[in-house]
Amino acid sequence: MQYFQNDMLAGQCAVVTGAARGIGRAIAAALAGAGADIAIVDRADPDMAAETIAQVEACGRKAVFYYGDVTDYTGCEALVKQIVTDFGKIDILVNNAGITKDMLMPQMGEAEFDAVISVNLKGTFQMMRHVSRQMMRKKYGRIVNISSVAGIMGNAGQVNYAASKAGIIGMTKSAAKELAARGITVNAVAPGLVETDMTKNLTDNNGLAASVPLGRMAQPEEVANLVTYLASPMAGYVTGEVIRIDGGLAM
Ligand code: NAD
Repeated sequence: MQYFQNDMLAGQCAVVTGAARGIGRAIAAALAGAGADIAIVDRADPDMAAETIAQVEACGRKAVFYYGDVTDYTGCEALVKQIVTDFGKIDILVNNAGITKDMLMPQMGEAEFDAVISVNLKGTFQMMRHVSRQMMRKKYGRIVNISSVAGIMGNAGQVNYAASKAGIIGMTKSAAKELAARGITVNAVAPGLVETDMTKNLTDNNGLAASVPLGRMAQPEEVANLVTYLASPMAGYVTGEVIRIDGGLAM
């Protein structure tokens, strides 16, 4: 699988949350392939981010790992300030950090519901809130939020996750309306089934994988290439959009 190789993001700084592994790592590498320097925000062990840093540096771009938890409001604010100090600005924000705590609703407790909403939905709000303030000053920005087809079509066993990902869609459209006049676009990407650690132990109760019209799961790089387009100046007339990348699963 290949990334766009060009310099359309040369001189830009991209913040990617949850980029220590999985889709976030592919997004970091793809944005770096297009010329961006990358701030990796993750609550994972810094050693885990080493492979992401290596992939960004292999593109000749700068990568810095920031240990941080997107559920921490003041922590996110401090982190964004630190990134602006280190990189001079933020042009692109990709809210990718996410978790699942799947179970059928009768088994789901308050803790499982709150944890998923807190990372996926509140974390996305917090990073958008802090980063957009500095994007507004320079009247340019690209924000891409990672939703899911679960937020569009629902999924048994994912009441918490689907709510968080549907929430991201409403939040994306509202933020897009607020920020349009400041030259900032806000879009959401809704992947279907992507081969990552998150899905490797998936119990496919609903036979979802078999029902993908294209007959396979996605590779993280395929999601990353779509994110790269939305993060680029070339997508300047696209905002408040939700783009499914699901092999046709939710059509
Ligand atoms: P993953 O579990 O492989 O990676 C998630 C990353 O987010 C990890 O590095 C983790 O440490 C980080 N993270 C988790 N909580 C965090 C927090 N509170 N603060 C900072 N970092 C945190 O998952 P993935 O499959 O790469 O998924 C990435 C995104 O794509 C998620 O938002 C997920 O919901 C979404 N998504 C994934 C799929 C799929 O099939 N894998 C499908 C649709 C949407």
